[in-house]
Amino acid sequence: MTDLRLDGISKSFDGVTALRDVSLDVDDGEFFTLVGPSGCGKTTTLRAIAGFESPDEGEVRFGGREMTGVPPEDRDVGIVFQNYALFSHMTVGENVGYGLRFREPPGGQSKAARVADLLELVDLPGFEDRAPGELSGGQRQRVALARALAPGPDVLLLDEPMSALDARLRQTLRTQVKAIQSELGITTVYVTHDQEEALAVSDRVAVMNDGRVEQVGRPEDVYRRPDTRFVAEFLGENNVFAGETDDGAVRVGGASFHLGLDAPDGREVVFCVRPEHLVRDANRNAFEANVETVEFLGESFRVHLDWRGRDVTLRMAERPEAERLLVGFDPEDAHVVSGSRQEREVIDG
Ligand code: ATP
Repeated sequence: MTDLRLDGISKSFDGVTALRDVSLDVDDGEFFTLVGPSGCGKTTTLRAIAGFESPDEGEVRFGGREMTGVPPEDRDVGIVFQNYALFSHMTVGENVGYGLRFREPPGGQSKAARVADLLELVDLPGFEDRAPGELSGGQRQRVALARALAPGPDVLLLDEPMSALDARLRQTLRTQVKAIQSELGITTVYVTHDQEEALAVSDRVAVMNDGRVEQVGRPEDVYRRPDTRFVAEFLGENNVFAGETDDGAVRVGGASFHLGLDAPDGREVVFCVRPEHLVRDANRNAFEANVETVEFLGESFRVHLDWRGRDVTLRMAERPEAERLLVGFDPEDAHVVSGSRQEREVIDG
């Protein structure tokens, strides 16, 4: 097994900068996710790890070993792509066995035994003779996973493997993938634009934006303590307020919010409050706003308020009866973010 290090990776394609100085450390056995909007550089990062893309600058290391110039087939990576279609003219067993074309099965196993083991692992025991056309989308992706794992790679790379599946199936499959990954303890880099998926399955996530890594951390840490406005808005819903420090408070459009900041007057501050932290019986930081729309989510209602032209969202256990609501938040539930890490340090003093 292997830890993975990316050190200062930059990559451009014909004047389009895809990656800007990307550095990441993925621990041995970790489930590490790259998450971010379309075009932020997730796939290019994964391709640089796999060896399909050579960076203009920077290094990729597997277990301390420099990988520059090492071709993909010699990197010991297993890859599953979104549209990594199975070979339709081959059986399931032959598809999984195809993963062994360059390499003998680990541990001196026969090829047939290895294929059977892998199909067992992905919960498709005895599926060897089926045709891919007889399988559901989720089953096909599990065969693709078995094929990627067949040679016993050191690193598993998953590029949006579930994006072609419907929501319910994605949830089932992600739980299965996570269970298989934990069982094998294989170092895994997973790419998704789906922030909920990223938070659900990962040991740590790297949030990417415009070719850069904005923040790396455990799901609960990046969700609760986003460093930047981008991370605050990308991961789950958030209410973002921008204002200026004034007499120990932050003034936002004529209202004063007390966040417990100890900053001199006149500093620009951006802070966020999660919808679940906006409450009706707050005795601090209360404001009145008009109810615009109400959506029933099952376990709660999502209520959109209009506060002085701003969209503010909260969760309520019951449908609001009034047209105006008084809501507020505890200073501890407000989290200061900024455009960049450096700006954050200025605000924190
Ligand atoms: P998506 O979620 O849409 O797959 P992504 O985050 O994986 O996006 P990348 O595919 O890594 O993003 O692309 C990053 C940037 O690099 C984009 O602007 C993309 O258009 C550009 N890019 C990627 N590969 C190439 C290529 N082979 N030639 C030209 N531009 C490319």
